[in-house]
Amino acid sequence: MPDDTVATLRAELEAQKRVLEDRLERIKANVRRGFDADSAEMARELENQEVVDALGNEATAELARISAALLRIDAGDFGVCLDCGDPIASERLAAAPYAERCIDCANEAERAPGS
Ligand SMILES: [Zn+2]
Repeated sequence: MPDDTVATLRAELEAQKRVLEDRLERIKANVRRGFDADSAEMARELENQEVVDALGNEATAELARISAALLRIDAGDFGVCLDCGDPIASERLAAAPYAERCIDCANEAERAPGS
């Protein structure tokens, strides 16, 4: 993979990472506000808690994938499939820079979840 392509993807990943970190901060701030509110307000907030958790978990998981991709860039093995070691297609990386598997292995993993 050409260096300038990696540099472009790295910039993209870092931008996404900042967006997600901001989102997580806002989610955490909302949760803290829930605890400060009076009891009626708090009951309502707690109903939203599951939604907030889901959003937070999603953002946390995505953040982890992005951080892992940045580490792979630093280690010099970015764009290589974790399963078969083949290069991941650049179109696939352009669409999902934190893809860890080539399309074949990703499809394989989807067909056999948990293995
Ligand atoms: Zn593969």
